[in-house]
Amino acid sequence: MGFRDLFSRFAGDDWGVHPDDHKRPAADRAVRVMPVPERLYLPLQQHLGAPARPVVLVGQRVRKGEVLAEAQGMVSAPIHAPTSGTVVAVSEITAPHPSGLTLPAIILEADGDDAWCELAGCADPFALDPAEIGRRVAAAGVVGLGGAAFPSAVKLGGAARAGVTTLVINGGECEPYLSCDDRLMRDRAADIVDGIRIMRHASGARVARVGIEDNKPEAIAAMRAAAGDDVEIRPVPARYPMGSEKQLIQVLTGIEVPADGRPADVGVVVHNVGTALAVRAAVREGRPLISRLLTVNGQCAADPGNVEVRLGTLAEAVIAFAGGLKGDGLGLARRVMGGPMMGMQIPHWRVPVVKGTSGLLALAGTEVADQEASPCIRCGSCVRACPMGLLPLEMSSRIRNAAYAEAIDFGLKDCIACGCCAYVCPSRIPLVQYFVHAKGELAAQDRTKLRNEATKKLAVQRQERLEREAREKAEAAARRKAEREAAAAAKAAAEAAAVNSEKQGESA
Ligand code: SF4
Ligand code: SF4
Repeated sequence: MGFRDLFSRFAGDDWGVHPDDHKRPAADRAVRVMPVPERLYLPLQQHLGAPARPVVLVGQRVRKGEVLAEAQGMVSAPIHAPTSGTVVAVSEITAPHPSGLTLPAIILEADGDDAWCELAGCADPFALDPAEIGRRVAAAGVVGLGGAAFPSAVKLGGAARAGVTTLVINGGECEPYLSCDDRLMRDRAADIVDGIRIMRHASGARVARVGIEDNKPEAIAAMRAAAGDDVEIRPVPARYPMGSEKQLIQVLTGIEVPADGRPADVGVVVHNVGTALAVRAAVREGRPLISRLLTVNGQCAADPGNVEVRLGTLAEAVIAFAGGLKGDGLGLARRVMGGPMMGMQIPHWRVPVVKGTSGLLALAGTEVADQEASPCIRCGSCVRACPMGLLPLEMSSRIRNAAYAEAIDFGLKDCIACGCCAYVCPSRIPLVQYFVHAKGELAAQDRTKLRNEATKKLAVQRQERLEREAREKAEAAARRKAEREAAAAAKAAAEAAAVNSEKQGESA
């Protein structure tokens, strides 16, 4: 039993937080479709897992939907051309990360035709073998569009192998400011329900249940009108982070996923509503994932709303298309890709939209928490807010002393970096930053350990090879010496025999 078990095992009923959702008026505005920009910047790493490997050359012409980079490894996803045009470079582009680090990316210049390659859809997906659906979803590069960007085919295949019974669809969209999933459910409910049925078939689940926060009455009504008796639409309380897998499963099914377990361990697989739509397009129409809906919002955004954008479009172009910034950006305190709780602060707007980009937020100073921290007053608010039943104050104090093993005992590996603890902390302690930092340190330590083990193994293999070669050389030398000696002895014996025979001839 670890420290965590002694103090706290599960979150209480009052887990999570209730921030102002800031979703309207953006959620109520009709979707705007952004034209294809002149250049698209497509990072090879847009998903969890191994980066994709380029299969095009600079100067090559491609059509919309053609593969630009193929998946490599068990967990990966291909990247497709979001429009027709010419590959002009394989270069570096700023990653959607506060560090401003760069990522390798394919740069595509649009030719203005926007001409599709040949697509192979399927009119009756339910006649397909579930494994074939998985292959089509993988080939289309579909990943979780709720932000995690985990390759969807891997999840569907894993669910089928684990024998899951329930497909949970996340329509929670609990992050403040974001409303792209809400908009999709209002506008594309029938297609989403079709995608849910395809995913249920592919995963082998019997039950499909959609959780939608009760602050989205229009989405609930639209989904209920589209769903038959076989897809359950369930309103869930609006509370952050309701969209976290473990919380949503518990609220929708009453089943608790063990602290160190996965949803499949309790017979459940979770996908997002946007992913259901992408799976439908991949299987019915053979369309790869080349665009997505995202929310532009924040007090500094001149005209907040939802915009359909080709992947690889620079955030600065999206912001400009969506009306630009109020007062030319004076008063802008923070740029965020994703939601304000779990999204990434970005250093500038020259960052491309990738598969997991659910929002672009232009936040004013009044919307950004004061970062000046004071000492912990042991109020326990962070413990009550944590949806995972962890002890954020204990974890952070261990991390400050670099006692990572003890932080793990308090549940560091179960932390989903939701930010609830930091949100409620009256001392403004940047708790979630400690946890993200510690997880990065642990991952780096794991990588170093693996590298050291690999280096040690190679050194041992080299030593074994040198010893084997020396042994073989010595054996060969001994063999040659023995052969030489045997030949000399044979020669001497033959000569002696000849001498004897001569002598015998003379005496006769
Ligand atoms: S960031 Fe981690 S520790 Fe903090 S509330 Fe969320 S899950 Fe709990
Ligand atoms: S909420 Fe902040 S001040 Fe309160 S116990 Fe947690 S870390 Fe300490």
